[in-house]
Order: sequence, then C-alpha cells, then structure tokens
Amino acid sequence: MTTDLGFDCSCCGRHHDDLPLGYGTFAPAFWHEGLAGKPGTVLGDEQCVIDREHFFIRARLVLPTLDDGDDFEWGVWVSLSEANFARVTELWTNPAREQEPPYFGWLATELPTYEPTTLNLKTNLHSQPVGVRPTVELEPTDHPLAVEQRTGITRSRVQAIAELLLHPTP
Ligand SMILES: [Zn+2]
Repeated sequence: MTTDLGFDCSCCGRHHDDLPLGYGTFAPAFWHEGLAGKPGTVLGDEQCVIDREHFFIRARLVLPTLDDGDDFEWGVWVSLSEANFARVTELWTNPAREQEPPYFGWLATELPTYEPTTLNLKTNLHSQPVGVRPTVELEPTDHPLAVEQRTGITRSRVQAIAELLLHPTP
C-alpha cells in the first residue's frame, strides 16, 4: 500500500512516520478458520469460494481525496453470482476483460468506522487490465461510505482512520 508522510497522532501524541492510504482484508467477512480445508471451499489471494455456494472476488474501493496526493483505498471483497464469478475466472488472463460490462455484487467486507454496517451494500464491480484488481462502485445511496465515494474524503479523515486502526481498543 502507498503511504504519505507521517502525522502527529491525536490518539497517542506521538509522530507516526507513515499515514497509510489504504487497508486490506485477507478474506471475506463470512470466512472463518473452521472453513479451511472444507471440500468446495477455497481462500486464495484474489478469489474465495465457500461451500461451492458463495463466490467472492477481491477488489478495491477507491475514495477520492480532496487534498493533494493519492486516493485512499479500502481493500474489500465482493460477492458475485456463480455465473458472474465463472465469467470473471474465465477471463482472468484475457485482455478483453476490460470491455466487460460491470458485474453486480454485494459488499462482503465490514469496514471500520462506518455506521450502519457496510456489509451487503450493493455494488458494481468494474474489471481492470490483467494483473490489476477490479474496482468497486457503490450504489449511490445515502450510506456514509457511498457518500464518501461520491464526494471524496479529506486528509484529516484519512488520519482519523489511521488513528483508529493503529490503536484498536482492546
Ligand atoms: Zn498514535
């Protein structure tokens, strides 16, 4: 993940050398350790299948930043239909995938700091060039995350996220 110059932390009072501009999750919210090794279940770096019934793709939810600098990215998982998951898999290494229309999907990651939950927000998944994770476009609702994607976030918001995630409450 890209990082910015550091910041003075209002949480611990110290200077943190890096302000992260993104965070990822290694698995969909529905994953748990008990699923590992189950038939019909696989967790990879970019794809996940649970019980041959639930199909997930790893994706990037980009929030434009209003200040100078790079955009902020939440690493997320999106649940696709079996047919669309098969299509994504079929075109995985095919440059023609960039011409695919977006796939409907449900957000399968519960992101911190948002209320109500980000789980199961409606999304469109946009294919990217081979080797690049797809991007997520949220349904344009009043959900705070959808609003942030539409209107952008400030550096102070990025810092507030960092302070929370660097100092999780025990
Ligand atoms: Zn701190």
